Amino acid sequence: MDAQVLVGRRLEADARDLQRRVETFKTSAAPITAAVVAVHKISSQPEEPAHSEGESTDTANQALLELAEPTEPVLANIHILPKHVLHEERSVLPAKKHAYGTRTWNLHRHIKNSMANGLDLTECIQLPDGYQLTEWVAVHVVDFFNEISLLFGTISEFCTAKTCPQMTAGPCYTYLWADGAQHAPPIALPAPEYVDRLLHWVQDQLDTPQVFPLDGNYTDSRAFLHVAGVIFKRLFRVYAHMYHNHLETYAALHAEAHLNFCFKRFILFVKEFEMVDQKELNALRKLIQTITS
Ligand code: ZN
Repeated sequence: MDAQVLVGRRLEADARDLQRRVETFKTSAAPITAAVVAVHKISSQPEEPAHSEGESTDTANQALLELAEPTEPVLANIHILPKHVLHEERSVLPAKKHAYGTRTWNLHRHIKNSMANGLDLTECIQLPDGYQLTEWVAVHVVDFFNEISLLFGTISEFCTAKTCPQMTAGPCYTYLWADGAQHAPPIALPAPEYVDRLLHWVQDQLDTPQVFPLDGNYTDSRAFLHVAGVIFKRLFRVYAHMYHNHLETYAALHAEAHLNFCFKRFILFVKEFEMVDQKELNALRKLIQTITS
Protein backbone atom coordinates (compact mmCIF):
# COMPACT_ATOMS: atom_id res chain seq x y z
CA MET A 1 0.00 0.00 0.00
CA ASP A 2 2.78 2.40 0.99
CA ALA A 3 4.56 1.65 -2.24
CA GLN A 4 1.42 2.45 -4.23
CA VAL A 5 1.01 5.76 -2.40
CA LEU A 6 4.61 6.64 -3.12
CA VAL A 7 4.23 5.80 -6.79
CA GLY A 8 1.04 7.84 -6.95
CA ARG A 9 2.70 10.86 -5.38
CA ARG A 10 5.64 10.56 -7.74
CA LEU A 11 3.34 10.42 -10.77
CA GLU A 12 1.50 13.51 -9.50
CA ALA A 13 4.79 15.37 -9.10
CA ASP A 14 5.88 14.33 -12.58
CA ALA A 15 2.56 15.50 -14.02
CA ARG A 16 2.88 18.88 -12.28
CA ASP A 17 6.44 19.25 -13.52
CA LEU A 18 5.41 18.40 -17.09
CA GLN A 19 2.53 20.88 -16.89
CA ARG A 20 4.94 23.62 -15.76
CA ARG A 21 7.29 22.85 -18.64
CA VAL A 22 4.43 22.88 -21.14
CA GLU A 23 3.23 26.28 -19.85
CA THR A 24 6.77 27.68 -19.99
CA PHE A 25 7.18 26.41 -23.53
CA LYS A 26 3.87 27.89 -24.62
CA THR A 27 4.75 31.27 -23.12
CA SER A 28 8.11 31.42 -24.85
CA ALA A 29 6.91 29.96 -28.17
CA ALA A 30 3.71 31.95 -28.60
CA PRO A 31 5.15 35.39 -29.59
CA ILE A 32 7.51 34.04 -32.21
CA THR A 33 4.90 31.67 -33.59
CA ALA A 34 2.44 34.52 -33.89
CA ALA A 35 4.96 36.58 -35.79
CA VAL A 36 5.77 33.67 -38.06
CA VAL A 37 2.11 33.27 -38.84
CA ALA A 38 1.92 36.99 -39.53
CA VAL A 39 4.86 36.83 -41.90
CA HIS A 40 3.33 33.84 -43.56
CA LYS A 41 0.17 35.84 -44.25
CA ILE A 42 2.22 38.22 -46.39
CA SER A 43 3.37 35.39 -48.60
CA SER A 44 -0.18 34.47 -49.42
CA GLN A 45 -0.95 37.92 -50.80
CA PRO A 46 -1.28 38.34 -54.58
CA GLU A 47 1.93 38.67 -56.52
CA GLU A 48 3.24 42.14 -57.22
CA PRO A 49 5.91 43.27 -59.63
CA ALA A 50 9.27 41.91 -58.61
CA HIS A 51 12.15 44.05 -57.43
CA SER A 52 15.74 43.19 -57.97
CA GLU A 53 18.45 42.44 -55.45
CA GLY A 54 16.13 42.45 -52.51
CA GLU A 55 16.33 46.19 -51.95
CA SER A 56 13.73 47.43 -49.54
CA THR A 57 10.82 49.06 -51.28
CA ASP A 58 7.96 51.26 -50.19
CA THR A 59 5.55 48.50 -51.14
CA ALA A 60 7.38 46.01 -49.01
CA ASN A 61 7.58 48.33 -46.04
CA GLN A 62 3.95 49.27 -46.36
CA ALA A 63 2.86 45.65 -46.48
CA LEU A 64 4.77 44.96 -43.29
CA LEU A 65 3.64 48.14 -41.56
CA GLU A 66 0.03 47.46 -42.31
CA LEU A 67 0.27 43.99 -40.98
CA ALA A 68 -2.06 43.76 -38.04
CA GLU A 69 -1.09 42.00 -34.86
CA PRO A 70 -2.74 38.59 -34.67
CA THR A 71 -6.00 38.93 -32.80
CA GLU A 72 -5.86 35.49 -31.27
CA PRO A 73 -2.93 34.02 -29.42
CA VAL A 74 -1.27 31.28 -31.36
CA LEU A 75 0.03 28.50 -29.19
CA ALA A 76 2.57 26.12 -30.56
CA ASN A 77 1.88 22.46 -30.25
CA ILE A 78 4.62 20.38 -28.79
CA HIS A 79 5.76 17.71 -31.16
CA ILE A 80 8.43 15.11 -31.00
CA LEU A 81 10.64 15.72 -34.00
CA PRO A 82 11.45 12.46 -35.76
CA LYS A 83 15.21 12.06 -36.04
CA HIS A 84 15.08 11.46 -39.77
CA VAL A 85 13.52 14.90 -40.42
CA LEU A 86 16.57 16.93 -39.47
CA HIS A 87 19.22 14.36 -40.19
CA GLU A 88 22.67 15.54 -41.19
CA GLU A 89 22.44 13.53 -44.40
CA ARG A 90 19.74 15.92 -45.59
CA SER A 91 22.14 18.89 -45.63
CA VAL A 92 22.64 20.51 -49.00
CA LEU A 93 26.39 20.40 -48.40
CA PRO A 94 28.43 18.39 -45.89
CA ALA A 95 28.66 20.08 -42.51
CA LYS A 96 31.82 22.13 -42.08
CA LYS A 97 33.68 20.84 -39.03
CA HIS A 98 35.82 22.79 -36.61
CA ALA A 99 39.35 21.42 -36.37
CA TYR A 100 39.77 19.61 -33.06
CA GLY A 101 41.84 21.41 -30.45
CA THR A 102 41.88 24.81 -32.17
CA ARG A 103 40.60 28.02 -30.59
CA THR A 104 37.68 27.85 -33.02
CA TRP A 105 36.86 24.37 -31.78
CA ASN A 106 37.01 25.65 -28.20
CA LEU A 107 34.60 28.44 -29.06
CA HIS A 108 32.24 26.00 -30.76
CA ARG A 109 32.25 23.84 -27.60
CA HIS A 110 31.69 26.95 -25.50
CA ILE A 111 28.59 27.80 -27.56
CA LYS A 112 27.21 24.28 -27.37
CA ASN A 113 27.76 24.13 -23.61
CA SER A 114 26.14 27.53 -23.12
CA MET A 115 23.03 26.41 -24.98
CA ALA A 116 22.98 23.00 -23.33
CA ASN A 117 23.08 24.70 -19.94
CA GLY A 118 19.95 26.64 -20.80
CA LEU A 119 21.56 30.06 -21.11
CA ASP A 120 19.42 32.63 -22.87
CA LEU A 121 20.38 33.05 -26.54
CA THR A 122 21.14 36.71 -25.90
CA GLU A 123 23.78 35.63 -23.42
CA CYS A 124 25.04 32.83 -25.65
CA ILE A 125 26.03 35.27 -28.40
CA GLN A 126 28.13 37.52 -26.16
CA LEU A 127 31.84 37.56 -27.04
CA PRO A 128 33.67 35.46 -24.41
CA ASP A 129 36.65 36.95 -22.58
CA GLY A 130 40.00 36.28 -24.15
CA TYR A 131 38.77 35.97 -27.73
CA GLN A 132 38.77 38.31 -30.71
CA LEU A 133 35.62 39.38 -32.51
CA THR A 134 37.00 37.91 -35.72
CA GLU A 135 37.26 34.46 -34.13
CA TRP A 136 33.79 34.78 -32.65
CA VAL A 137 32.31 35.78 -36.01
CA ALA A 138 34.19 33.02 -37.84
CA VAL A 139 32.84 30.25 -35.64
CA HIS A 140 29.31 31.59 -36.06
CA VAL A 141 29.65 31.76 -39.84
CA VAL A 142 30.39 28.04 -39.83
CA ASP A 143 27.55 27.23 -37.43
CA PHE A 144 25.01 29.28 -39.37
CA PHE A 145 26.14 27.82 -42.68
CA ASN A 146 25.70 24.29 -41.32
CA GLU A 147 22.29 25.08 -39.85
CA ILE A 148 20.93 26.68 -43.01
CA SER A 149 22.34 23.92 -45.20
CA LEU A 150 20.47 21.38 -43.07
CA LEU A 151 17.28 23.44 -42.78
CA PHE A 152 17.04 24.05 -46.50
CA GLY A 153 18.04 20.49 -47.35
CA THR A 154 15.19 19.30 -45.16
CA ILE A 155 12.58 20.92 -47.41
CA SER A 156 14.55 20.95 -50.67
CA GLU A 157 12.26 18.45 -52.36
CA PHE A 158 9.47 21.02 -52.01
CA CYS A 159 11.54 23.89 -53.40
CA THR A 160 11.86 23.24 -57.12
CA ALA A 161 12.19 25.31 -60.27
CA LYS A 162 8.47 24.73 -60.72
CA THR A 163 7.29 25.74 -57.22
CA CYS A 164 9.84 28.54 -56.86
CA PRO A 165 10.88 29.77 -60.32
CA GLN A 166 12.57 32.79 -58.72
CA MET A 167 14.39 33.44 -55.46
CA THR A 168 11.68 35.39 -53.72
CA ALA A 169 10.79 36.29 -50.17
CA GLY A 170 7.08 36.95 -50.42
CA PRO A 171 5.60 39.13 -53.15
CA CYS A 172 7.86 42.14 -52.62
CA TYR A 173 11.37 40.74 -52.70
CA THR A 174 13.16 38.98 -55.52
CA TYR A 175 16.86 38.31 -55.17
CA LEU A 176 19.16 38.16 -58.17
CA TRP A 177 22.38 36.20 -58.10
CA ALA A 178 25.65 38.03 -58.60
CA ASP A 179 28.70 35.85 -58.40
CA GLY A 180 31.12 38.59 -57.47
CA ALA A 181 34.02 36.91 -59.21
CA GLN A 182 32.57 37.81 -62.59
CA HIS A 183 31.50 41.14 -63.98
CA ALA A 184 28.31 39.75 -65.44
CA PRO A 185 25.06 41.45 -64.46
CA PRO A 186 23.00 39.82 -61.68
CA ILE A 187 20.76 37.06 -62.98
CA ALA A 188 17.39 35.66 -61.97
CA LEU A 189 17.55 32.02 -60.95
CA PRO A 190 15.04 29.49 -59.65
CA ALA A 191 15.22 29.47 -55.86
CA PRO A 192 16.82 26.02 -55.50
CA GLU A 193 19.58 26.93 -57.94
CA TYR A 194 20.11 30.28 -56.22
CA VAL A 195 20.41 28.61 -52.81
CA ASP A 196 22.72 25.95 -54.21
CA ARG A 197 25.05 28.58 -55.69
CA LEU A 198 24.86 30.63 -52.52
CA LEU A 199 25.81 27.75 -50.23
CA HIS A 200 28.63 26.64 -52.55
CA TRP A 201 29.90 30.21 -52.56
CA VAL A 202 29.92 30.27 -48.75
CA GLN A 203 31.65 26.90 -48.72
CA ASP A 204 34.31 28.30 -51.06
CA GLN A 205 34.88 31.21 -48.67
CA LEU A 206 35.22 28.83 -45.72
CA ASP A 207 37.74 26.75 -47.66
CA THR A 208 39.86 29.77 -48.64
CA PRO A 209 42.68 30.18 -46.10
CA GLN A 210 43.19 33.81 -47.12
CA VAL A 211 39.65 34.49 -45.87
CA PHE A 212 39.38 31.92 -43.06
CA PRO A 213 43.00 31.30 -42.01
CA LEU A 214 43.62 27.84 -40.61
CA ASP A 215 45.63 29.23 -37.69
CA GLY A 216 42.85 31.67 -36.78
CA ASN A 217 45.20 34.61 -37.25
CA TYR A 218 43.13 37.30 -38.95
CA THR A 219 45.71 39.86 -40.02
CA ASP A 220 43.16 42.17 -41.64
CA SER A 221 40.14 42.05 -39.36
CA ARG A 222 38.24 44.74 -41.26
CA ALA A 223 38.51 42.85 -44.54
CA PHE A 224 37.42 39.63 -42.84
CA LEU A 225 34.43 41.24 -41.14
CA HIS A 226 33.39 42.72 -44.48
CA VAL A 227 33.38 39.28 -46.13
CA ALA A 228 31.56 37.82 -43.12
CA GLY A 229 28.94 40.55 -43.47
CA VAL A 230 28.33 39.59 -47.10
CA ILE A 231 28.00 35.95 -46.06
CA PHE A 232 25.45 36.82 -43.37
CA LYS A 233 23.52 39.01 -45.81
CA ARG A 234 23.28 36.16 -48.30
CA LEU A 235 22.44 33.53 -45.70
CA PHE A 236 19.63 35.74 -44.47
CA ARG A 237 18.03 35.53 -47.92
CA VAL A 238 17.72 31.78 -47.53
CA TYR A 239 15.89 32.30 -44.24
CA ALA A 240 13.66 34.90 -45.91
CA HIS A 241 12.75 32.43 -48.66
CA MET A 242 12.22 29.57 -46.20
CA TYR A 243 9.89 31.63 -44.02
CA HIS A 244 7.89 33.20 -46.82
CA ASN A 245 7.61 30.23 -49.14
CA HIS A 246 8.04 27.06 -47.12
CA LEU A 247 6.84 27.66 -43.59
CA GLU A 248 3.93 25.30 -44.09
CA THR A 249 6.32 22.53 -45.00
CA TYR A 250 8.35 23.05 -41.81
CA ALA A 251 5.11 23.01 -39.85
CA ALA A 252 4.02 19.79 -41.55
CA LEU A 253 7.38 18.25 -40.68
CA HIS A 254 7.10 19.56 -37.10
CA ALA A 255 10.39 21.34 -37.71
CA GLU A 256 9.29 24.96 -37.39
CA ALA A 257 10.45 25.19 -33.77
CA HIS A 258 13.97 24.30 -34.91
CA LEU A 259 13.72 26.81 -37.76
CA ASN A 260 12.64 29.50 -35.29
CA PHE A 261 15.40 28.64 -32.85
CA CYS A 262 18.12 28.77 -35.52
CA PHE A 263 16.81 32.00 -37.00
CA LYS A 264 16.53 33.65 -33.59
CA ARG A 265 20.17 32.87 -32.80
CA PHE A 266 21.21 34.04 -36.28
CA ILE A 267 19.38 37.34 -36.12
CA LEU A 268 20.38 38.11 -32.52
CA PHE A 269 24.01 37.66 -33.51
CA VAL A 270 23.71 39.69 -36.71
CA LYS A 271 22.01 42.54 -34.85
CA GLU A 272 24.33 42.44 -31.82
CA PHE A 273 27.46 42.85 -33.94
CA GLU A 274 25.80 44.93 -36.70
CA MET A 275 26.90 42.54 -39.40
CA VAL A 276 24.17 43.43 -41.95
CA ASP A 277 22.45 46.70 -42.88
CA GLN A 278 18.91 46.98 -41.56
CA LYS A 279 17.46 47.44 -45.06
CA GLU A 280 18.74 43.99 -46.01
CA LEU A 281 16.66 42.48 -43.22
CA ASN A 282 13.33 44.08 -44.09
CA ALA A 283 11.92 40.97 -45.74
CA LEU A 284 11.41 39.56 -42.23
CA ARG A 285 11.10 42.84 -40.37
CA LYS A 286 8.01 41.95 -38.37
CA LEU A 287 9.40 38.64 -37.23
CA ILE A 288 12.71 40.27 -36.27
CA GLN A 289 10.89 42.92 -34.26
CA THR A 290 9.15 40.22 -32.29
CA ILE A 291 12.36 38.34 -31.67
CA THR A 292 14.39 41.35 -30.59
CA SER A 293 11.76 43.24 -28.62
ZN1 ZN B 1 11.37 27.55 -52.56
